[in-house]
Amino acid sequence: MMQIALAGNPNTGKSSLFNILTGSYEYVGNWTGVTIEKKVGLLKNKQGYLIDLPGIYSVNPLSKDEGVTANFLLHETFSLILNVVDASQLERNLNLSIQLLEFGKPMVIGLNMVDVAKQQGMDIDFAKLGSLLGVPVSPVVARTGKGVDDLLNRVMGKDTDAAFPFKIDYGETVEKAIEELAHKLPEGLEANKRWLAIQLFEGNEVVSTYLEKFIEKSWLKDLYGRTEEAAAKHTGIKLLPQVIRQRRSEVIEGILHQAVTRTKEQDQTFSDRIDRIVTNRFLGIPIFMAFMYLTFKLTFEWLGNPLSDLLDGFIGGTLTDWIASLLDKVNATAFVHALVLDGIVAGVGGVLVFAPQIFILFLIISFIEDSGYMARIATVMDKLMEHIGLNGKAFIPLIIGFGCNVPGVMAARSIERPNERLLTILLTPLMSCSARLPVYILFGGAFFAGNQGAIVFSLYILGIVVALLIAKLFSSTILKQEGGSMFVVELPPYRIPQWQTLARSTWEKGKGFLKKAGTFIFGGSVLIWLLSYTGPGGVDVAMDDSFLAMIGGVIAPLLHPIGFGTWQAGASLLTGFAAKEVVVSTMAIIYSVSDEGLSGVLMGQYTALQAYSFMVFILLYIPCLATVGVIKKETNSSKWTWFSMGYSLVIAYILSLVIYQGGKLLGLG
Ligand code: GDP
Ligand code: MG
Repeated sequence: MMQIALAGNPNTGKSSLFNILTGSYEYVGNWTGVTIEKKVGLLKNKQGYLIDLPGIYSVNPLSKDEGVTANFLLHETFSLILNVVDASQLERNLNLSIQLLEFGKPMVIGLNMVDVAKQQGMDIDFAKLGSLLGVPVSPVVARTGKGVDDLLNRVMGKDTDAAFPFKIDYGETVEKAIEELAHKLPEGLEANKRWLAIQLFEGNEVVSTYLEKFIEKSWLKDLYGRTEEAAAKHTGIKLLPQVIRQRRSEVIEGILHQAVTRTKEQDQTFSDRIDRIVTNRFLGIPIFMAFMYLTFKLTFEWLGNPLSDLLDGFIGGTLTDWIASLLDKVNATAFVHALVLDGIVAGVGGVLVFAPQIFILFLIISFIEDSGYMARIATVMDKLMEHIGLNGKAFIPLIIGFGCNVPGVMAARSIERPNERLLTILLTPLMSCSARLPVYILFGGAFFAGNQGAIVFSLYILGIVVALLIAKLFSSTILKQEGGSMFVVELPPYRIPQWQTLARSTWEKGKGFLKKAGTFIFGGSVLIWLLSYTGPGGVDVAMDDSFLAMIGGVIAPLLHPIGFGTWQAGASLLTGFAAKEVVVSTMAIIYSVSDEGLSGVLMGQYTALQAYSFMVFILLYIPCLATVGVIKKETNSSKWTWFSMGYSLVIAYILSLVIYQGGKLLGLG
C-alpha cells in the first residue's frame, strides 16, 4: 500500500483534494488552522492511504500544529509527498515545495487553483515548471475535481522518482558546513543528511532535537556559529536562516521567470477592494459588530424562532398525542407513561426544539469560515488583542467557541507562543456556545419578548468583554510573557462558498447537537425524571419532596444572593455541567410542561432581573464536561484544568451578584 503525505501551505485546497481523492469528508475552510492534526483516508482506488497534514508555510515550525509536519517527515514512513501548491500564489508556495524537494522523497506537485491563476492573468507552463523542479506537476481544480484523475495517475505511476534530485547551491560556506555535518552523521539514517543540515541552519528546532540524538549539542552549536559568521562575511547577511532563505528566493524567482508569463498586469483584486473597507482601521470593528448583530437577528427573530415554534408545536402536539395513544395501545403502566412523556419527551423535546436556531447559527459560522472573512476578523481584532497580551489569531478560537467550545479550544493550537495558547484555551469557554442558546431562548422569550435578539446579543458581547478583561488580568500576572507578540495571518482571497461545502460543514458541526440530544440529554432526562419522581417518601412523590429537590436544595441558599435561590435552579445548574442544554431539559421536567407553558411558569417564579442574572450565570459558570475533557487533553495539565473550572465559577458568581444586587438597588426588580 502506498502512503501518500499531502502537504502544502494553509488554504491551498489540501482538504478539498483529500475529500475528492478519498471520498470522505473533511473540514474545508478558507482560513488557516482548519486542519489541526494529520488525518488519514483510504484512496478511492483502494491502492493507498492519503495523509492530510496541517497547512504550513515552512517545514521550520512556528506553532504546535506546524511541528506536526516536521515530526511526520522525520519519524514516519511514507512513500511519496503530494505537495499541493496554490498556482495563484506560486512564489510564496514554492518556498515550502523546495524544502520538501530537498527532503529527497519522491514527490508530485498538485498545482491547484489554476482557475484562479488564469483569472489573474498568469500563464503557467506546467511542463517547464515540472522540469525545473524535477518532479511531475499536475494542474488541478480541487474545488470541482478537474484534473484530479490525471493527478492520481501521476501519483500512482512509476515516474514519480525525481529525474534529478533537486539541489540548490547555497554558496561555498554553507555547502562546506553541510558536508561537515553529513560526515559526522552515522550511516543508514532514514532522513536525508543534506536536508537535515539545511534545516538545522534554518533554525528548525524539531530537526536540531533530532540531530542531538547523534551529535553533541555543543558541536552543533559550534558548527552553526562558525557557519553563520563565515557566511556573514561573504554575503553581508547576519543571520544564517536569512542566508538560506535569501538564496532560495533567488532560485524561486529564476524558476518563475522561466515558467510563468503574465498576460495582464495584476490590477487591484476584488478581495483587495473589499478589504479596504472591511479591514479599515475605523470601520473594521463596527462592521464586524453589525455583522454579528444581523446574525443574531436572523438566528433568533427572523428565521430561527418561527421555525422553532413550528417544531415545538409538532413535538408538544402531534408527536406527544401520537406517543400517548401508542402507549395506551400497548397498555403501558402509569409509570411508563410518566417516564416517556414527562421525562423523555419533555427533556429531549425541550432541547430539540432549538435545533433550527442552532443550525442557522452554524450555517453562518461556516459561511464566515469559508468565505475568508474569518481571517479578516483576526486582523481587525489584532490591535485590540495586542492590548491584552494576545494577538489577532486568538480571536479565531473564540469565534469558533461561539459554535462549540470544544473545537474552539482545539483551534488554539495554531497560536505560536505557549502562554498565549494557554490563555486562549482558558478564555474560550467564556464564549457563549450554542448549547447555552436554549437557555437564553427560553428565558429571553419569556422575560424579554420583542428584544430577544438584543438580549442574546448582549450575552455574547458580555462573554467577549469578560474574556478580554480576564486576558488582560492573566497576561499581566500569572501568564506573563516576554517580548512583543507576533501576528502572522494570511488573508486568503474571498471566495463565495460552495453550497455543498457549507451544507456539509454545517451538518458536521450540528450533528453533535443532535447526537447529544439522543444520548446525553436522553440519558440525563431519564435520570433527572427518576430523581424527580422518587423521594425519601417513596415513588410518585410531590415534586417538592423528591430527591431532585433535596439535591437542588443543598445549593439553593448559595444562589440566593445572586437572585435565584430555588432548588429548581440549583438542580438545573448541577445537571447543566454535563451539557448546558440539560439545564432546559431539567426545567422542562421539573415544571413538566411544554415550552410555552414553561415560559409561563418561569414568569411566575422569577423577575426579569433574576432571569438575566441567571442567564449570565449560565454563560460563565463552568465549562461543560466535554470542554473540560478537551482542556485537559490540550493543556496536559490537571492544574490548569481545575483552574479553568474554578476561575469561571468565581467570575460567574461575582458578575451575577453585581447584576442582581445592583439591579435591585436601581429598583429594577
Ligand atoms: P486547506 O486549508 O489546504 O485544507 O484548503 P481547503 O481544502 O480547506 O480549501 C480552502 C478554500 O479554497 C476553500 O474555500 C475551497 O473551496 C477553496 N478551493 C479549493 N480548491 C480550489 C480551486 O481549485 N479553485 C478555487 N477557486 N477554489 C478552491
Ligand atoms: Mg485543511
